[in-house]
Amino acid sequence: MPITPVDKIWMDGELLDWDQAQIHVLSHALHYGSGVFEGIRVYETAQGPAVFRVHDHLKRLFRSAHLYHMEIPFSIQALSDAITDTVKANGLTACYVRPIVYRGYGEMGVNPLQAPLNVCVATWPWGAYLGEHALEHGVRVKISSWKRNDQNSLPTSAKATGQYINSVLAKLESVHAGYDEAIMLNQHGFVTDGSGENIFVVRDGVITTPPISAGCLDGITRESVMTIARDLGYEVREENLVRTDLYHADEVFFTGTAAEVTPIREVDDRRVGEGTRGPMTKELQGTFFAATTGELDAYSSWLSPIG
Ligand code: PMP
Repeated sequence: MPITPVDKIWMDGELLDWDQAQIHVLSHALHYGSGVFEGIRVYETAQGPAVFRVHDHLKRLFRSAHLYHMEIPFSIQALSDAITDTVKANGLTACYVRPIVYRGYGEMGVNPLQAPLNVCVATWPWGAYLGEHALEHGVRVKISSWKRNDQNSLPTSAKATGQYINSVLAKLESVHAGYDEAIMLNQHGFVTDGSGENIFVVRDGVITTPPISAGCLDGITRESVMTIARDLGYEVREENLVRTDLYHADEVFFTGTAAEVTPIREVDDRRVGEGTRGPMTKELQGTFFAATTGELDAYSSWLSPIG
């Protein structure tokens, strides 16, 4: 999806003009994928713009950094303030937020410890990741021939830039074959997640999603939707799924900050349910959007208003 430029990007404590927010071509992260990042959304609410689960996202950023021996030189509160300042400086009411911590310019070779650590926060308006049509009618997905990174090769608990080259392989395969998105299995054949989304199936009224130990990201939207589903009285299970569980499901859907709650209408050329958004997906999606836009008091703690 194209990026819509706005005015400012926060870099290492300063708000710079969009075009000035540049890094050297010999930056460590460009060559070795040595960065960790987050994707966060700001939603428009009746009280003004609010960041969705910002502390949970930033805590995950610090966990990702910890794994790669990165000491982020800002506190969670300072980065949360940086997000607020950047959104305000750009006059945005609803947008995507991309904080990134990366090994910068000054050192080559795989050992990153002498390279500087840089921190940026960028924001831009970003619509529905898999398209507005997809939110209502669903996407067609293909189970990828590429396996998800093994936990002991490239840990899936972190959100590191380099590991996304695994998702890129799967995404390219699915796009070249005419599908919208890929689903990745782990080395044991169990379902993990999409190239950038968690996955859920509904069968006989029960909602199941793969456990984190399968090798999916500990998604914040995943957790939000599980909470919402339980609050609505549904049974939610975290259990390993095999590919045929997707073929036999009544409903399948993705969750993610970018993809929000996107129905899946077809898996490997097999229609899911009625071949459109199912009733439980619709209910969960509607409740999720009501929560993100501040319409439900029960979930107001998920929102941090941009004063
Ligand atoms: N899985 C992968 C591989 C992802 O990249 C993402 C996006 N961060 C997700 C799942 C969904 O996570 P979240 O809901 O926290 O955005």
